Amino acid sequence: MIMTSSLNQLFTRLLESESIFKNKEVLRHSYTPDVLVHRDTQTEELATILVSALRGETPSNILIYGKTGTGKTAVTRYVGKELENMSERMNVKCSVIYVNCEVIDTQYRLLANLARHFGEDIPMTGWPTDQVFQKFKEALDTQEQVLIVILDEIDKLVKKGDDVLYNLSRMNANLKRAKVSIIGVSNDLKFTDFLDPRVKSSLGEEEIIYPPYDADQIRDILYQRAAIAYNDNVLDGSVIPLCAALAAQEHGDARRALDLLRVSGEIAERKEERKVTESHVRIAQDKIEVDRIVEVVRTLPTQSKLVLFSIVMLNLSVQNQNQLGQPSTITTGEVYNIYRKMCKSIDMDILTQRRVTDLMSELDMLGIINAMVVSKGRYGRTKEISLSVPVKNTYDVLIEDYKLNPLQGYNVKVGYF
Ligand code: ADP
Ligand code: MG
Repeated sequence: MIMTSSLNQLFTRLLESESIFKNKEVLRHSYTPDVLVHRDTQTEELATILVSALRGETPSNILIYGKTGTGKTAVTRYVGKELENMSERMNVKCSVIYVNCEVIDTQYRLLANLARHFGEDIPMTGWPTDQVFQKFKEALDTQEQVLIVILDEIDKLVKKGDDVLYNLSRMNANLKRAKVSIIGVSNDLKFTDFLDPRVKSSLGEEEIIYPPYDADQIRDILYQRAAIAYNDNVLDGSVIPLCAALAAQEHGDARRALDLLRVSGEIAERKEERKVTESHVRIAQDKIEVDRIVEVVRTLPTQSKLVLFSIVMLNLSVQNQNQLGQPSTITTGEVYNIYRKMCKSIDMDILTQRRVTDLMSELDMLGIINAMVVSKGRYGRTKEISLSVPVKNTYDVLIEDYKLNPLQGYNVKVGYF
């Protein structure tokens, strides 16, 4: 039994034990460091385009591309902030508005956000979008100024139509005093394929590509951050090189590297150890990978979950069979059989085998399963399915779904509970 007094003692002990972290917050994604290493070219390129704003002219619109964790957000925010500071010192009216389109993901919300920045009172919903746009335009055009809108994760916004981008990118023609330019940032090189060609050419007046970091560059980023995040001498010498090497394999993702560095420390701390070592990094790597998969599985549509669940259940029964020395491959046909039975027992629509095969290809692309085509001689070809993720974790996540929950205890071999 835990009583208040003993819990208080526990808190005190935990608080008093010296943390290995000096400041853990600086390892979070939201933190932007003051110095960005290995991004001079991209920083200068952006500054060279945006300097027009300080002359009161309209900078070209820009599209910035690159994989996750290549520093796009950090650099763009940094240059935006410095530009605003400089304009203040020069007494030129220039604002930079940063919008994360993953959070602000509708045209209405984007325009309302922009209008509010200029003091307009716009309700959360309810107005026609055109009216919000009109308000924003009027408010902006009350004085001579340059507005730069950073649309980070712009592909998320475009999924819901490109009207707003069309309007924003044509806006300058209708403004008398103010000028607008747009910086779109995306991990997805192909997102412009879906845009109206006029929007595409207008947005992409300038394009900047961010290459992935290599292991040496990631190492420098980590050393710089570790110095403010960790207390002295708590990181074993091999920790940062290993985090960097692992993240470099993952397309040079600085975000993954920083996650590894943080989670390794958290694991060491939880074990009440005073030093972070290579073994903590290995555990952190596994944990992050499992967390990632759990997140992907949790957000799958129900039918995909059910297909995956069939594979998981077959795997579990195959594992049992294996102990008896029997064959252990799973074919698409078997998956479809179990899938159908499960659908019936929980009253779900049964998709065609064709459709289920498509869903399996999607799971394959997400890295959750591996489907390998094998020839069965004169019986034609089939696919052999194996799980690429830990069975136990996957089962646990799937069974959490209330629609799948009744399948707990389902016996694949006999086809009922
Ligand atoms: P992206 O937007 O391309 O996905 P971010 O800009 O969010 O990448 O960078 C991911 C993380 O790595 C952030 O915490 C950021 O501060 C850090 N980071 C990225 N590039 C650098 C760099 N050149 N120097 C220091 N930190 C960096
Ligand atoms: Mg980003």
